[in-house]
Amino acid sequence: MIMRRYILIVAVTALTWGVSACNSSTHKDAKATEAAKPKGKYYCTMHPEITSDKPGTCSKCGMDLVERDTTK
Ligand SMILES: [Zn+2]
Repeated sequence: MIMRRYILIVAVTALTWGVSACNSSTHKDAKATEAAKPKGKYYCTMHPEITSDKPGTCSKCGMDLVERDTTK
């Protein structure tokens, strides 16, 4: 039965594509999250969204910005 074999191959191929597509989209999401991170080197510990390239104070609470730990 050639037809049956063909269907099996199509099913396996579709499954493989589905898995790899899922994997790549997960990868993309991780990359997007990475890119969405604030770029400033200094940030407010209370408001991580407040960042600055140089030392300063938070515009929301006035706390000193701390240097981001880039080793992580
Ligand atoms: Zn703050």
